[in-house]
Amino acid sequence: MYNPGMKPSLKTRFAPSPTGLMHFGNLRTALFNYLYAERFQGIFLLRIEDTDTARSEQIFSEAIKQDLSWLGLEWQEGPFFQSERQAIYQEYYEQLVQSRRVYPCFCTEEELAITRKVQMAAHQPPRYPGTCRRLSQAEIELRQSRGMPSTLRFEVSDGQTIGFEDVIKGKQQFDSSHIGDFIIRRQDGSASFMFCNAIDDALMGVTHALRGDDHLTNTPRQILILQALGLSIPHYGHFPTILGPDSRPLSKRNGSRSLQELRENGFLPLGILNYLSRLGHHDPDLSLLSLATLAEHFDLARISSSPAHYDVAQLNHWQKEAMHHCSWETCWDLLPDTVKKRVPPNPELRQKFIEAIQPNLVMPAEALPLAEAIFNEKLSFSPAISKVLEEAGVEFFNVALKYLEEDLEVTYSSLITHLQQITGLKGKALFFPLRAALMGDLHGPEIAKILDLMGQEKVKSRFREVIVLLKESKHATNL
Ligand code: GLU
Repeated sequence: MYNPGMKPSLKTRFAPSPTGLMHFGNLRTALFNYLYAERFQGIFLLRIEDTDTARSEQIFSEAIKQDLSWLGLEWQEGPFFQSERQAIYQEYYEQLVQSRRVYPCFCTEEELAITRKVQMAAHQPPRYPGTCRRLSQAEIELRQSRGMPSTLRFEVSDGQTIGFEDVIKGKQQFDSSHIGDFIIRRQDGSASFMFCNAIDDALMGVTHALRGDDHLTNTPRQILILQALGLSIPHYGHFPTILGPDSRPLSKRNGSRSLQELRENGFLPLGILNYLSRLGHHDPDLSLLSLATLAEHFDLARISSSPAHYDVAQLNHWQKEAMHHCSWETCWDLLPDTVKKRVPPNPELRQKFIEAIQPNLVMPAEALPLAEAIFNEKLSFSPAISKVLEEAGVEFFNVALKYLEEDLEVTYSSLITHLQQITGLKGKALFFPLRAALMGDLHGPEIAKILDLMGQEKVKSRFREVIVLLKESKHATNL
């Protein structure tokens, strides 16, 4: 747990771009950074990377904060907004201009696209050919005086090896000849991701940048920027991305859902956290764990080197676990209004209702047929259920009803014992007709709890209904 009195030596960050709602990919990145900081009593920082004004939206920044808080992933520093830090980036551009590590590039998008096409056709990796690198000061000034827009490129000299120790993947090496000069400031003057992401990590004292391996090839570029500015380089760690069931990167098309959607459908934060913490990270403990315990168990060495596959069955497994372990009040709060409306407004009954149905729930919406079966005046029976009732026969229910009418202190076990003694039935032959008559289903919550919840009067009326029904159907078949 973070202790503000102590100077932590480890700092991680979550640095989302607010261009959409949070989904499994970036949620897992947030969680891994949170868990790692928490494990070493470090700081978890939130930085909103909103320099791309065309794609960033404030509603998404708000949604990110709301989602993290809902999951319990509290940050100790931030949120910092990169859109408010342009003046800081400007200082560092100037330093790079002074040290001649950058140059203005006047190439247009069309020109760059043509170069890329030619390189691809020649089976070469696309890289900037250095067209504007060789412009003289006079040529630069001429273009500027004509009002030609420019980007700022960072110069990468060929023939160097850029290496770093990835805290997840191990030793990494890149040949600078494949990199090419890259853009650090866009034409509109805004900082490119590559630049401000690296600068901010250094300025904010981030010690560990853990992120998806789709960023792996950005890392050597960012190291070059930080080296050129004499800024500290964090430890980088890249984990494999998440794939959908079709082995393509997880997206909306192959099953990814936003956290907002999951929340609206009644998923619980603890279930999602338990699922995500095991997505590409092996935890030998298979029980539902608190966030604090997930942090204790978090280990970079247990991150798999192959991509994780999103598996809806696993997600549902952890949702079920979380559902079965939450308090009755939490479970009640999750229920849709359609369910709540059916339960009489009595706190004791509410609690009993939840205690009866909670072990049978995965999603809150599943409570609706149970609430209907328990609280509706009358039940309607499917043909399969009617068959079970018919097989048990009128006499079965007469025996049950008579017993309830005679003895005011009937308990579930006394009713079962009585029915067993009189009818000689046991096992399914005994339980199925009871369930069928009370709930209109053969499976579901424990009958003892249902009996208690319904109360003796309701149970008697259910049996009476069935008796009438069976007599009517017998009469009909005799006609
Ligand atoms: N804004 C970047 C993203 O959302 C952050 C990458 C990083 O974690 O360094 O992908």
